[in-house]
This record gives sequence, C-alpha cells and structure tokens, in this order.
Amino acid sequence: MIHLEEVSKIYQTADGPVHALSQASLDVEKGQFVAVRGPSGCGKSTLLLVTGGLGTPTSGRVVVAGTDLPSATPAQRAAFRGQTVGFVFQMFHLLPYLTVLDNVAAAAVPEQQPAARDRAGELLKRFGLEHRLRHRPAQLSAGECQRVAVARALINRPQLILADEPTGNLDPDSAAMVMDLLADFNRDGGTVMLVTHEEQAAGYAQRTVSMEGGKIVGSEE
Ligand code: ADP
Repeated sequence: MIHLEEVSKIYQTADGPVHALSQASLDVEKGQFVAVRGPSGCGKSTLLLVTGGLGTPTSGRVVVAGTDLPSATPAQRAAFRGQTVGFVFQMFHLLPYLTVLDNVAAAAVPEQQPAARDRAGELLKRFGLEHRLRHRPAQLSAGECQRVAVARALINRPQLILADEPTGNLDPDSAAMVMDLLADFNRDGGTVMLVTHEEQAAGYAQRTVSMEGGKIVGSEE
C-alpha cells in the first residue's frame, strides 16, 4: 500500500536547508495499522505529508496505492488525495463558518457528491453526533470536532487514513472514542498510519515504526 524508498525532504529556510527526511525507507501493507513515533522534529509529519501527496520529496520513490506520487501531475496527485487518502490532524482544521454536516459533505469529491450529504449524515450519526449536524464547530467540544474530522476523512471511502497526533488535544475519553473510529476503519480493511506521542493511542497499532533524525530506525510488530 505504501512504498517509500530512500525518501529525502529538504526544506529551504532563511537559516539554510533543513533535512526533514534523510533517505527514509518504509513499506506498509494494505490493512496494516502503523504508529510512527520519535522525538519532536525527527520528520514524522513530513513523512505523513509526503505519503499523502501533500508534499513532494526532494528525492526518493513514493508509491502509494499504485500511484507514483513524485512523478504524478498535480491533477493526478489531487485525484489521489481525493479518492485514496483521508487526513486527520491534531487541530481538526474544520471550516468555522460551515455546519458540521457541511464540513463533512463539502469534502466529497465530485464522484461521491450526489450522495455526499446522506453519507455525511450517516457517518455523523454513527459517530454519535446526530444532535450536532446543524451546529458550527465552535459550539462543539474538542472530542466532537475530531469525530467530525474523522467523518470528513472517511467521506470519500479512502483506502488509507493518515492521522497526525489526532488525540493530541483530547481528553482520554475523547481520545479513546477517536481511536476506536480509526480502529473500526482498520477492521473494515483500511490502512492507518498514525503519528503519535501517546502510549494509549500507539497501543491501537499492530506495528510501531521509530524515526530519528529523518530516518526510519526501527520497526516492531
Ligand atoms: P515531527 O513531526 O517529527 O515533529 P516535522 O516533520 O514536523 O517533524 O519536522 C522535521 C524538521 O523539518 C524539523 O526540523 C522542522 O522544523 C522542519 N520543518 C517542518 N516543516 C517545515 C517547513 N514547512 N519549512 C521549514 N522547515 C520545516
């Protein structure tokens, strides 16, 4: 599902180049739930962005669900992001002026659009948010916001969820609820790559990959 081969990413900054990834190699099979761990600044978020086609590597091979991302056109990369991957971030990134239902439905790609509002409503009901459909994100708790963000990530029936510290702003009960949703997705055959500092969240993964200084330095099942 994920094939990263000697992937490097250098950010050019005012202070000079920053080597966020240095020849990182990783393979993840379809249906695996992988936690990525390592100290702050070791390249975990960059690895996730490159895997999801949100960032291009400086060098190396990135093939995800059969798409060779660095050599894909911007339109192919956008189609890949829309159809294959769902993202969940620590800060939710919901649109404040849209209702909960619209936040989820608006993320649907054109092929999913006709039934998007129905599917958004179903997902939100399944996630215990049926009383929140017409509310705006500011009226919700952090845990509710993250459940909305997971529904948004699932609207296009992705094969892969990339989650960057999804429980970083949640209390333990809300965190468990969000992790249960990711576990359900994985049980239905979805692949999950999760960046986390938290023991409890990492416990949901079947495999833990360790990073250090932009490299993958270990993998434990
Ligand atoms: P982690 O997720 O493990 O904290 P990141 O992938 O966010 O690591 O960052 C790896 C390194 O790249 C860090 O030194 C960080 O400061 C730097 N970095 C990340 N994103 C950017 C960016 N957009 N521009 C410049 N430097 C960045």
